[in-house]
Amino acid sequence: MSSTAAKRPFATKEQLEAIASQYPTPFYLYSEDLLRSRVRALNEAFAWNPGFREHFAVKATPNPAIIRILAEEGCGTDCASLTELMLSDACGIRGEAAMFTSSDTPLADYRLARDLGATINFDSLDQLGFWRDNVGEFPRTVCCRVNPGGDFEAANGIIGTPQDSKFGMTVPQLREAFRTLRDAGVQEFGIHAFLASNTLGDDYYPRLARRLFRLAADLSRELCVHLAFVDLSGGIGVAYEPGQRENDIRAIGEGVRRAYEEVLVPVGMGDVSIRSELGRWIAAPAGALVTRVIHHKVTYHDYLGVDACSANLMRPAMYGAYHHITVMGREDEPMGGTYNVVGGLCENSDQLARERPLPRTEVGDLLFVHDCGAHGHSMGYNYNGRLRSAELLLQSDGDVRLIRRAETPADYFATLDVTPEGAALLSEVRRKP
Ligand SMILES: *Cc1c(COP(=O)(O)O)cnc(C)c1O
Repeated sequence: MSSTAAKRPFATKEQLEAIASQYPTPFYLYSEDLLRSRVRALNEAFAWNPGFREHFAVKATPNPAIIRILAEEGCGTDCASLTELMLSDACGIRGEAAMFTSSDTPLADYRLARDLGATINFDSLDQLGFWRDNVGEFPRTVCCRVNPGGDFEAANGIIGTPQDSKFGMTVPQLREAFRTLRDAGVQEFGIHAFLASNTLGDDYYPRLARRLFRLAADLSRELCVHLAFVDLSGGIGVAYEPGQRENDIRAIGEGVRRAYEEVLVPVGMGDVSIRSELGRWIAAPAGALVTRVIHHKVTYHDYLGVDACSANLMRPAMYGAYHHITVMGREDEPMGGTYNVVGGLCENSDQLARERPLPRTEVGDLLFVHDCGAHGHSMGYNYNGRLRSAELLLQSDGDVRLIRRAETPADYFATLDVTPEGAALLSEVRRKP
């Protein structure tokens, strides 16, 4: 998997047109084959650690059809909210297969996490007290999220700035948390940290692991506590841009193994399990947003107006993120223009791509927006009354299955049912075909 991204769509133009004739664009399409092959590669890379488990970050792609596929490959979940816990539970993932990594957590969320037996990952000392005062006894196994502050440096420079992150507790706070938990009867401990996002270059996990392993060894010695696992969380990136080098998951697993052998094994901690909470690395390349060009206008830029907008894919507007675009059927044509690919929101940030060289593109062309399988549909919103699109699964047997229908106006108006005008609107749209 360590090659420069070729950026070929995982479906053909004929396949996409056939799907579009049944489910109107825009829609999200996920590849079961890709989801499975990526998780398998991850599990192989960490097979040296018998307790290894990936806890898929539910927020990346909160769809039960996706979560069940990943569960079949051995994954658990990482949840951060009440509804993500409900989703995990609905997929049969509870107990220690579910991590609950939340911050600023409402009581109802904690209560459900307790009832499901999820592994609680505390974000602060305050939350420990909140749990004790409102939820009750601590579970047998507890995890704490650490934020060592400073910058996080990899071989190619600073890749994260933990000191400016709202998440986690300082190392002295972690020590205090472990002491409190130990004295309250907690038997097994986990350490978790998420210090850089969308990293490229294979050394984020190994460097993070080395740091957490040292911390785990220190705390275990000082406090006589049993460290059951180290959770490396998310943060492994994908090559969104053509020409970027794909991370080599095998090399990443090997780098973590080396740190493990050097730091944990010599101090008798060779029984520590590794957990990961990847979302993006697993799912981003396995999903695409498929949208059609419906308008073309030229002013000071050349605009391709598509039937999707930032409400369907927020990342470009929110982070200036790059998502590669393939104009279906024109893969081998030379570049024919430099386009801004825009949606219809009354908001100038609603541009899926700016000044993007593409083959000559016309109204009616289908666009395949790459690497949308994580943090894509799930970040969707309803500004301008735009409706969220359907999600479809391209199954390994070649069939396409609807795994989330597109929203309708009735969905958009549903929560207005409390006022007479709202109720009237709702019954009006429900009457329409
Ligand atoms: C978002 C998140 C993840 C997943 O991050 P990716 O960038 O998708 O790998 C994992 N763990 C936690 C706690 C998160 O908040």
